[in-house]
Amino acid sequence: MEVTRFKQLNLSDDRLAAIEALGWILPTPIQAQAIPAGLAGTDVVGIAQTGTGKTGAFMIPALERIVAGAGLQVLALCPTRELAQQVADDAVALSRGTSIRAEAIFGGVPYPPQIKALEEGFEIIVATPGRFIDHMQSKRVDLSNVRYLVLDEADRMLDMGFRPQIEDVLRGMPRKRQTMLFSATMPNGVHDLALRLTKDAVWIEATPPGTTADGIEEIFYSVKPEKKPDLLLELIVKPGWDHVLIFTRTKAGADVLETHLQRDGIAVAVMHSNKQMKQRTAALDRFATGKVKVLVATDVAQRGLDVEGITHVVNYDVPLDPEDYVHRIGRTGRAGATGTAVTFVTASDLGAVKGLEHRLGRPVSKIHLPEYDYDGTPQTESRATARRGLKSRAPQGLGSKSGASLTPEELAELLNPGS
Ligand code: AMP
Repeated sequence: MEVTRFKQLNLSDDRLAAIEALGWILPTPIQAQAIPAGLAGTDVVGIAQTGTGKTGAFMIPALERIVAGAGLQVLALCPTRELAQQVADDAVALSRGTSIRAEAIFGGVPYPPQIKALEEGFEIIVATPGRFIDHMQSKRVDLSNVRYLVLDEADRMLDMGFRPQIEDVLRGMPRKRQTMLFSATMPNGVHDLALRLTKDAVWIEATPPGTTADGIEEIFYSVKPEKKPDLLLELIVKPGWDHVLIFTRTKAGADVLETHLQRDGIAVAVMHSNKQMKQRTAALDRFATGKVKVLVATDVAQRGLDVEGITHVVNYDVPLDPEDYVHRIGRTGRAGATGTAVTFVTASDLGAVKGLEHRLGRPVSKIHLPEYDYDGTPQTESRATARRGLKSRAPQGLGSKSGASLTPEELAELLNPGS
């Protein structure tokens, strides 16, 4: 499997150090595509939501192309003050080690500090359109050196009625510039804007990690805590389990699982925040390049985990926060591929599962396998649900440990006698 590394992207040493300080190990897919284009001076249209790493995708190449002390060179427009602040914070973090300065400018706060800031001269301004126009009209900003224009969350800016302000800003901008437009969706208005503002742009689409894609099959197993390693081992050796990302709730849990899997001859890499950056990079690298088929990680590590081709995500422990569930399982089934998310549910997880059902807006039905089930009998499912689940989802070769081999139908019969 081909993996792009930040080192391969022709970035300056300062930038690589700043990226490392942020704890970003590998570029996300949109970064891997947008950074080379941005560095080459090409316009970019990115269809990407927050969470895909889009800010780095436009800010890293912008930072490489500007010069400290040469006035305002990057203007990024954002719909909200929160986003403007976040993008400016990322710009500051990514410009670490240089004297490039970035500032957020947005409405709803007093003018004088902003006026003072604008006088100081920043290389990068991240602004909401309304307030920026005020400063522009009062001739407090000089756009003549701006070489890099970013429209972030363009769809939201148009929804919020910022089109006239955007047009005003564009009229005041130098024609010769590089433009990057990012939008979570591409309705006609944004599409037209993208075509008008960019020239020979590359169009890049990122799969948002925060949504549960249609291509992900979600399976829940009822399991006793002490049976989790056995169930995992039974599943993980099955055909198709080629690239497996396992989440544990704790670092200690990740280490224990590593020992279990290794004892059973399964090559595994582990990533959590107690590991040094070098170890984490090595672990992710071994997994991403297919040298090991299993990576065990904690939630802390999952943010930047944007590895292609993950066939299975295993929630070895149910995450306490339903958002973590959504993020975790979004690591598989990316870019239209199919994937499977398997979650182990113990008796003590029922509260967390309720929260998850609320977040997903649908009930989850668990598969009860006699060998692993926490109470040995199916209690919560209707017979039909359990049977349906077993027919389509039960691992084959069930019961191999006890020497018996049941078909899904036989097992359904066993679980639902007389059905
Ligand atoms: P964004 O989509 O730009 O809002 O980024 C979402 C989150 O992912 C932010 O917390 C970033 O700091 C983080 N992030 C961005 N790029 C990477 C990366 N390559 N590796 C790890 N985390 C990243």
